[in-house]
Amino acid sequence: MNLYIDMGGTYTRYQIDNDNMVVVKDRDIISLLSDIIKKYPQIKQVNISFAGQVKDNIILSAPNINIKNLDLHSYFPNIKFRVENDLNCAVLAESNYWKSGDIVALYIGTGIGAGVISGGRLINGFSNGAGEIGHIPFRQAPFLCGCGKDNCVELFSSGSAILKWAEYLNMDFKTLEELPPNLYNQFLEGILYSTSILITLFNPQILVLGGGVIEKNSFLIDYIQDNISQYAFGSNLKDLEIVQTKLDNASLEGCKLFKK
Ligand SMILES: [Zn+2]
Repeated sequence: MNLYIDMGGTYTRYQIDNDNMVVVKDRDIISLLSDIIKKYPQIKQVNISFAGQVKDNIILSAPNINIKNLDLHSYFPNIKFRVENDLNCAVLAESNYWKSGDIVALYIGTGIGAGVISGGRLINGFSNGAGEIGHIPFRQAPFLCGCGKDNCVELFSSGSAILKWAEYLNMDFKTLEELPPNLYNQFLEGILYSTSILITLFNPQILVLGGGVIEKNSFLIDYIQDNISQYAFGSNLKDLEIVQTKLDNASLEGCKLFKK
């Protein structure tokens, strides 16, 4: 029996083998795992898609979740864990769906992050931190990112950015269309900035966009298509397809594809 978990910045989704998916909010991973394993002691393997930095199945840190250097295997010694960054999981599922070995997934939800498959290979980087596009410098913000810096693009172009700006300005907006005009424009610019960096660096065949903010604002796909030539390296745009994800839970689907 296998357990698959997608731990996001806001929600945790899990599924046992091919059973129905369960969604929980604000759950601590250790207590959630204890509850599930108590109920299903037959579970031998747990694959986790995690919204943060992961290396060798250890959860190192997460800008949007309060966790540091967590080795789940030490809590549950009889279970095998395979933990991977959520965007690495998502791009694996997207690669599978679009049948492309040169694909970049840019997901904009609580945070903004990317996963890259180039030449059929997942690009992990030396410490498994490749693709952390949300934390490239963009503009100075008057508050800090979860990573400790104050100039990340994630502070302008993400779901959490909208809430942080509302709190800072003491205003009551929650969605992209409610943003004051200057923040709205910066939000869009940050998205063009992020997508153009990915397109210029990795020259993908397909750029697939997903995540809660894209789901609610699918006009962003057309917006990127119409404006990207001002930002990205021209010849990399020639045969590029920019698409919206067709998958409901790419990270969860992707973590199933990792071998033990
Ligand atoms: Zn950051």
